[in-house]
Amino acid sequence: MGKTIIVANQKGGVGKTTTIVNLSAYIAEAGRKTLVIDLDAQGNSCSGLGVKRAPGEKTLYEAILGMEDARELIAKTAIKNLYVLPSNINLSGAQVEMLEMKEREFKLKKVVDELREDYDFILIDSPPSLGILTINGLAAADSVIIPIQCEYYALEGLSQLLKTINLVRTRLNSKLHIEGVLLTMYDTRTNLSRQVVEEVIGYFKEKVYKTIIPRNVKLAEAPSFGKPINLYEPRSIGAVSYYNLSREVLHDGEKSAGQRA
Ligand code: ATP
Ligand code: MG
Repeated sequence: MGKTIIVANQKGGVGKTTTIVNLSAYIAEAGRKTLVIDLDAQGNSCSGLGVKRAPGEKTLYEAILGMEDARELIAKTAIKNLYVLPSNINLSGAQVEMLEMKEREFKLKKVVDELREDYDFILIDSPPSLGILTINGLAAADSVIIPIQCEYYALEGLSQLLKTINLVRTRLNSKLHIEGVLLTMYDTRTNLSRQVVEEVIGYFKEKVYKTIIPRNVKLAEAPSFGKPINLYEPRSIGAVSYYNLSREVLHDGEKSAGQRA
């Protein structure tokens, strides 16, 4: 039964998609059959894995609305064991259509539950909002990874996310828990980054991954080649850090706040 993890933070540009693409690549490389579900109409996690779907093509949108069998829509990637259920701009329409539907919070869960037995891990990328799509992701997942960018206002808006996670836990998905908190885009040159790390560890304690993702230009370049970092630049510091993160996720944590891997 595939362990299902959603990467969520309603703040834009904090590294959700970069984490999905590269973490999934290393989990798959470790021999675990892995599916990425792109729950964002921007389609960045599928294109980052080299899979693009034009607006006319069938995607997660059709699966969520029950019009297509999700299995038929899953694409292979260049990495062995790594598959993706792609999205494109059509998914933005689903948000409106779903508002009219019964059981609208469980549309993705239905899809995920059908696929779980085929995979060891299912990783869900989410859009920068706490709308119905993200709620669907939280209702379908076992746990959440929260990426936090080491920047000004890093903790701003987090209480809203935590409140939403709690609400989903009480109303929709009692098993949902925080898998881990990931510090991203760490800049070794600034005191600010260090302060954010301290603040986040003070708040989330042992939930914070030992691995901190540094700001690394190779991580930013890789998506334009449709490649995860293990194919694009495996010796970069960004690659090493996502590899280390994958080990923590595979070994289910043993997080020890504050230590750099
Ligand atoms: P959105 O909320 O729009 O979906 P996101 O949270 O998925 O954004 P990403 O797309 O992963 O964030 O990252 C935002 C931008 O920062 C991208 O251009 C990405 O390439 C870049 N980026 C992410 N992580 C790093 C990093 N560690 N070092 C350098 N650049 C990074
Ligand atoms: Mg994204």
